[in-house]
Amino acid sequence: MSADLPFFRYHPDPLASGSILASAESCACCGRSRGWIYTATFYSAHEVSGRFCPWCIADGSAAERFAGEFADSYGLDGVSEDVLHEVTRRTPGFHAWQDPHWLVRCHDAGAFVGEVGYTELAEHPEALDQLRADLRIDGHHDESRLEGLLTRLGKGMTAMLFRCVVCGAHLAYADAS
Ligand SMILES: [Zn+2]
Ligand SMILES: [Zn+2]
Repeated sequence: MSADLPFFRYHPDPLASGSILASAESCACCGRSRGWIYTATFYSAHEVSGRFCPWCIADGSAAERFAGEFADSYGLDGVSEDVLHEVTRRTPGFHAWQDPHWLVRCHDAGAFVGEVGYTELAEHPEALDQLRADLRIDGHHDESRLEGLLTRLGKGMTAMLFRCVVCGAHLAYADAS
């Protein structure tokens, strides 16, 4: 059934990430019950009486009708306006402690893979190295504490993993409660 879902370049598997679930619920935009419903973030000044189907996300109708966005534009520097709009208005967001945002690599937005702990992150050493560098910039200078923090990922702090749509490299940011 998932083969019927629209394809999201910047969030290729929203079922795996839990952003879209099988549901008979009617979409707050088109009013139809299409078998799938979006469960994560949507920011709008308007009152939205329900949740959206993936198709109203993909074609931009939900974002346009309610003048809202699925993700924060924070961090989306150096990408075209088209990419910015595709990520914030036509891509499912995801569940996170903090407002979800996208990472940028190779002048394009990354594709969101999912929330991961240390073991999964360690399978992508480049993402782990980059997260380590970011945490140092954020003030985590004590190396043993920093490694301790990383190995405890999944408990109070998780990593949001992305894959570069251009070169395939993985990257991640830390999300804490
Ligand atoms: Zn809909
Ligand atoms: Zn790249």
